[in-house]
Amino acid sequence: MSGVGKGITASSVAKLMEARGLTVTSIKIDPYVNVDAGTMNPIEHGECFVLTDGMETDQDMGNYERFLNVDLPSTNYMTTGSVYQAVIDRERNLGYKGRCVQVVPDIPMEAISRIKKAGELVNADIVVIEIGGTVGEYENILFLEAVRMMKSEAPDNVAVVMVSYLPVPGSIGEMKTKPTQHASRTLNNAGLQADVIIARAPTAVDQKRREKIARFCNIVPEHVISAPDVSSIYDVPLNFEKAGLGTALCTALGLKCHPVDLSAWKRFVAKSKRAAQPVKIAVVGKYFSSGDFVLSDVYISVIEAIKYSAYEQCLKPEIVYLSSHDFTDKKKLAELKKYDGVLVPGGFGTTGIEGKLNAIEYVRKNKIPYLGLCYGMQLAVLEYARNVLKLADSSTEEIDPKAKDLVIAVMPDQREKIAKGDMGGSMRLGHYPAVLKKGTIARKAYGVDNTLERHRHRYEVNPEYIAALEAKGMIFSATSPDGVLMEIAELPESVHPFFVGTQFHPELQARPLRPHPLFTAFLKVAGSKSK
Ligand code: GLN
Repeated sequence: MSGVGKGITASSVAKLMEARGLTVTSIKIDPYVNVDAGTMNPIEHGECFVLTDGMETDQDMGNYERFLNVDLPSTNYMTTGSVYQAVIDRERNLGYKGRCVQVVPDIPMEAISRIKKAGELVNADIVVIEIGGTVGEYENILFLEAVRMMKSEAPDNVAVVMVSYLPVPGSIGEMKTKPTQHASRTLNNAGLQADVIIARAPTAVDQKRREKIARFCNIVPEHVISAPDVSSIYDVPLNFEKAGLGTALCTALGLKCHPVDLSAWKRFVAKSKRAAQPVKIAVVGKYFSSGDFVLSDVYISVIEAIKYSAYEQCLKPEIVYLSSHDFTDKKKLAELKKYDGVLVPGGFGTTGIEGKLNAIEYVRKNKIPYLGLCYGMQLAVLEYARNVLKLADSSTEEIDPKAKDLVIAVMPDQREKIAKGDMGGSMRLGHYPAVLKKGTIARKAYGVDNTLERHRHRYEVNPEYIAALEAKGMIFSATSPDGVLMEIAELPESVHPFFVGTQFHPELQARPLRPHPLFTAFLKVAGSKSK
């Protein structure tokens, strides 16, 4: 089934191989027809993770980057849509020299050529490939075929890891292996045999069931790796190493490896467990609910970024998700007093906006530390325009293009794209440099004059309002190198302990072993409040 932990398993596999001194890169294959993840509703698909080169990808790419502490290129992400698009474009350009182009083998071959290219780009010893979806569904069969083709070409160079769930039905209280047996047979139908089975379950798999899985799924018991639920995903690589996953994979691939070095990771995990002083952070967003369930996947990078900076300072983060809709009612705002810091993450469209603006006004006036990301920065500027500059009829063009004062306006090059309906991969995306202004909170946090951050937006602070905003005390502490685009807005420390908004997404570059300086600065102030 989905949601069983394939992404964390793939990330951990990569980590264990890297810990053996191998050069590793990670690929995500998403089986849907969307060309990338940029056009999908986050409630349905979770966070859209933007790479340095601007590709809008699946949140698993974020997990790989965080576990491996590397930037991955767009070569490492593909969907059915992007693979078909490339094959069709090549066919239209006579790239197949007149021959009949077929679903098999041409679609799997395109996938294989991308996998090889991703490996070659970094001269990788190991390419870890995660295939989205579940075995037996129609959507990902061509990618399983790609794996089968690679394996038939070089059997010793490909190992297959199946992540399977072992339910423990409440009514009987016994762990059941049958779904795993069926999944293994289904994988066999696709021409593949698992080399390793990750036994995901609420508890550890016992020896009896390990042997049963081994017997019915054609593998040795040592290659059934127990993967019980854990309280922190960062324990997973360490647990897998103890459970013998690294050794099992080296055996499957015939690798002789260096001794394992997971020391930096162990230090990070130990620190995360030592963190004792609680710091309460509220994330005010709009994408939290799905039916009766609360989702936090949409903001996964934000949440992880908070954790890294908190752990670094021995703070124990207590992160609470508040729906911005609730703050449309101003009476509810007092609840924000309970928090040491408030964060408004990125977002799109009109829903939930008034609630976010009310929350921002409240934290500004009550001096609660605030970090706004992308939309969270634009709305902080808008709130300032409405309530401090007294521009009553001001708005962002995204919400109300007819407002008198469009303090946040569409970027000039975006106007044409929106008019043409060219909405896929067309925002200002990926790495762009920003220059920091001396003496500001942001400059102090970074400790350097320049930074390179990841972006994903169509709107910007309208240059026509910058002078007026500055005259009333707002500081634009980072801009694009030409000075045109406002990258960070803040209020001086003399009026507010920490009120900072970024046009970019710092959360996308926060790593366990490299917390992001702006999150660290935010948590430092929030942490001093919690003392
Ligand atoms: N909707 C805003 C824009 O397009 C902000 C985007 C975001 O938060 N990622 O500019």
